[in-house]
Amino acid sequence: MVRVAVIDKDYCKPSKCNLECIRFCPVNRSKKKKAVDLAEDKSRAIIYEDNCVGCGICVKKCPFNAISIVNLPDELEKILIHRYGVNGFKLYGLPTPQLGSVLGVIGQNGAGKTTSIKILSGQLKPNMGRQDVEPGWDEIIRTFRGTELQAYLSKLASGTIRAVVKPQYIEAARRVLKGAVRDLLMKVDERGVLKEVVQALAMEKLLDKKVNELSGGELQKMLIAAVLLKQANAYFFDEPCSYLDIKERLRIARAIAEFTKPSENYVVIVEHDLMILDYITDNVVVIYGEPGVFGIASKPYSTKAGINHYLKGYLPAENMRIRDEEVKFKIIVKTDVKREATYPLISWDNIVFMYPSGFRLFVESGEVYSGEVVTICGPNGIGKTTFIKILSGELKPESGNIIIMPSSVSIKPQEVSPKIFSEETVAANLRAASQQALDPTSWLYVELVKRLKLNKLLERRVDELSGGELQKLAVAYTLAKEADLYFLDEPSAYLDVEERIAVARTIRRVVEEKGKAAIVVEHDLLLQTYVGDKVMVFWGEPAVEGKSTKPLDPSIGFNMLLKYLDITVRRDPETWRPRINKPGSVLEREQKAVGKYFAMDII
Ligand code: ADP
Ligand code: ADP
Ligand code: MG
Repeated sequence: MVRVAVIDKDYCKPSKCNLECIRFCPVNRSKKKKAVDLAEDKSRAIIYEDNCVGCGICVKKCPFNAISIVNLPDELEKILIHRYGVNGFKLYGLPTPQLGSVLGVIGQNGAGKTTSIKILSGQLKPNMGRQDVEPGWDEIIRTFRGTELQAYLSKLASGTIRAVVKPQYIEAARRVLKGAVRDLLMKVDERGVLKEVVQALAMEKLLDKKVNELSGGELQKMLIAAVLLKQANAYFFDEPCSYLDIKERLRIARAIAEFTKPSENYVVIVEHDLMILDYITDNVVVIYGEPGVFGIASKPYSTKAGINHYLKGYLPAENMRIRDEEVKFKIIVKTDVKREATYPLISWDNIVFMYPSGFRLFVESGEVYSGEVVTICGPNGIGKTTFIKILSGELKPESGNIIIMPSSVSIKPQEVSPKIFSEETVAANLRAASQQALDPTSWLYVELVKRLKLNKLLERRVDELSGGELQKLAVAYTLAKEADLYFLDEPSAYLDVEERIAVARTIRRVVEEKGKAAIVVEHDLLLQTYVGDKVMVFWGEPAVEGKSTKPLDPSIGFNMLLKYLDITVRRDPETWRPRINKPGSVLEREQKAVGKYFAMDII
């Protein structure tokens, strides 16, 4: 076994603790050897893995939860590709891109997906775990001799790979890129396909805007366009669906397939929206391990099998269980019997609303029952938030009454930032929201903190949290408040698949247990089918006019939505997850012929 001790540099603060890791370490106390010490510059602790006995005392004692220690099989060290410094994250193996097929990469946040892309694109030279002398390419290639990765790494070493990357974090681009979208794109149009790419991504109206005027989704599209315009032979997309609604996700998926020419080039996509990933990739690699500590790239699986294994939580080729529970997508059909046991919690007449700016909103009369989760997946600016404000009485419609108004509404806004929280730490905010104690047996702890894995973060300051951590806190914070109606606007943004599912389950449980209602804006269709009892379909023209149906049964609502998106979806017989039919396929033609855009049952 190899001992791996990882210290999170951001959280290890020897000046703010009592050096518990050093003082309580039994090896240190024996005075014969040292297993934990302060780094020379005293900025953080260092664990000597050779001396550490793996007792885990420092892990428990560290007040900042900054230490992780795991034991891994020796053979893994042979495929160690990179380690971020002493006591840093370790990445084993790499996803192998192949000509002729699009490779997808899935895995938890902190598993090493972005690191893999940085290595494969030549942005990061792998160190094979050596912190003293950098290994040469010869050695790296030799390590992977006899594998498909060898050919790729040889090309990378010889400089024959020309890679372009759509980075995961797009906001940094705003600081670097200045000027109008058109000028920036013209500059990178090495392939002379600007017009075609702009059309494929429906970016005509963005061309005259300046980069600093773009919304998150618009910036995302611009960066994807920039990658597609470049002449390269390896294209990498790190989380291209973030900030985009379902229609835009389909658009970029088609554009990537069309413009990257996978038959001639390498194409790799990291994405948590499994329905989109399923749609555009041929193979997938799962990076598993322990987030922030180590990651192991699996063998490539066909996309269908790989996603199913991932959802089932077991990788057969590796003989590795990656999750205890299986994720299944059951059809939720509230039976009439169940319906009788519940009652409408919110109800409204046909709503007509108008802002002075001219934006109009029409919503069909409807009701939401106690215990129900309603999903929405409309674009930005279509009136979703406006609708909630009308329901809560904050805005008055031109016509249409709110027949039963929720006594209170708890809202998670689309954009989460430390600013939406009033208290300094995670725990203090949760206590403030729930007005409850936060001991380990409390409802708050059991149902929200544990389920969303916030327990290790309780004492952290909100301005130290990552995007995903902040999102989970915002969801817990919103659900911790007492309310009739919970409105969660895009709770899956920044979250990985596991976290998305945990959030979906938490919302369901809270709503069912408390007999309250939730409206959830969700662009990940797989999640929508997982979390919702009903669907509201918003359509129209953003910023001009929005229209919505009442909450519909999924069989009707999804059918409308998919028809509008012009895709057909079937269920996978193993996991029941929804899968998009290939355009022009027999299944698509059959389903369209009978108007069954979503085959809810297994055919
Ligand atoms: P993913 O893309 O799967 O979310 P990353 O590859 O970005 O994961 O990161 C994997 C791990 O490596 C994380 O724990 C992260 O903290 C660590 N890491 C990433 N970049 C660096 C770096 N430059 N220095 C030290 N650690 C890093
Ligand atoms: P969504 O939640 O679907 O993104 P919103 O309901 O927030 O959409 O907004 C719908 C439209 O109404 C947008 O075009 C927005 O610019 C406009 N709008 C939102 N709030 C106001 C306001 N207070 N005054 C005028 N127009 C507004
Ligand atoms: Mg990443």
